[in-house]
Amino acid sequence: MGCRKVVPAAALVRFVCRGTELVPDPSRVAPGRGAWLHPDPACIDLARRRGGFARSLHRKVDDAVLGEFASAVVSGDWPGWSMGLPKG
Ligand SMILES: [Zn+2]
Repeated sequence: MGCRKVVPAAALVRFVCRGTELVPDPSRVAPGRGAWLHPDPACIDLARRRGGFARSLHRKVDDAVLGEFASAVVSGDWPGWSMGLPKG
């Protein structure tokens, strides 16, 4: 979503909207329109600045989670981070 790099789907993280909040979907099967992102800080930043999620999901979304995702990517624990969220 942020960039147009082509990578295997397994290398992407799926995000979905829960209410107006964006959350990761490690199971990749949560209902609703999903948005895919590379675990790459530059890609995440690009997606945020472009408002790509709101556009792709056709609604206003709280994408604060992307900041956390970027930090997790930088520190190297994004797989665990994305699996630990979301609840409910
Ligand atoms: Zn990307």
